[in-house]
Amino acid sequence: MRRRLVVGNWKMNGSIAKNKALLDTIIDGVRDLHDSDCVVCVPYPYLAQAQSLAEHTNVAWGAQNLSSMDDGALTGAVSPGMLVDYGCRYVIVGHSERRMLSHETDDTAAARFHAATKADLTPIFCMGETKEEREADWTEYVVGRQLDSILRRYGPEDVSKSVLAYEPLWAVGTDNPATPEQAQEVHSFIRKRIAGCDKKIAKNIRIIYGGSLNPSNAKALFDMPDIDGGLVGRCSLDAKAFVKICKAA
Ligand code: PEP
Repeated sequence: MRRRLVVGNWKMNGSIAKNKALLDTIIDGVRDLHDSDCVVCVPYPYLAQAQSLAEHTNVAWGAQNLSSMDDGALTGAVSPGMLVDYGCRYVIVGHSERRMLSHETDDTAAARFHAATKADLTPIFCMGETKEEREADWTEYVVGRQLDSILRRYGPEDVSKSVLAYEPLWAVGTDNPATPEQAQEVHSFIRKRIAGCDKKIAKNIRIIYGGSLNPSNAKALFDMPDIDGGLVGRCSLDAKAFVKICKAA
């Protein structure tokens, strides 16, 4: 039985005061949730704050990116070991905003993915097609290619140490979520492709959905057989909404 997971991606939002209010309310709201996992991925400067507020609670914390290198002359980069130092368990890798705005490619995302698993961090590996790609019926080609960038290169054992996130770009940051059926179709495709390499890993890996999740649509999406939770952007900045999504999981 796969444990459900809800991850908040705060993106470049927050301040020490706002984070405290947000995280304290989330921690309080999910105190009695023991059957699913709740994670917040915060901007780097707030990792220490997340660690001090969330330690010994049932909220885990993580980062939104990492370097694929361990150390060296890489101005502005943050290594896997640094995230481990701050108690991170999770790290988002290959988010569409990084693929689009920061020239992340399948190769660079895959290298970060591998660096994370090597450091015993759980990468949340994002995949998804654009609106144009969906309209051209390329969804499986694009998502399959992104999945293969880690599956063929590092193998199913490495992939089993991750969480996969299907985030169609046309649904991220819009008010146009995938329908449960649309998301299920792609989640099932991802699971079957992994099953082609290893059936047990395919059965156990968590595949979460992201893109305009909110308290009203979360349950219907999470009720789908291959959807194991959510990656939440905007609603993760609203403690009450985020807690409702965690409860739906
Ligand atoms: C995201 O950016 O990962 C995301 C899912 O954003 P939103 O929930 O705002 O669509």
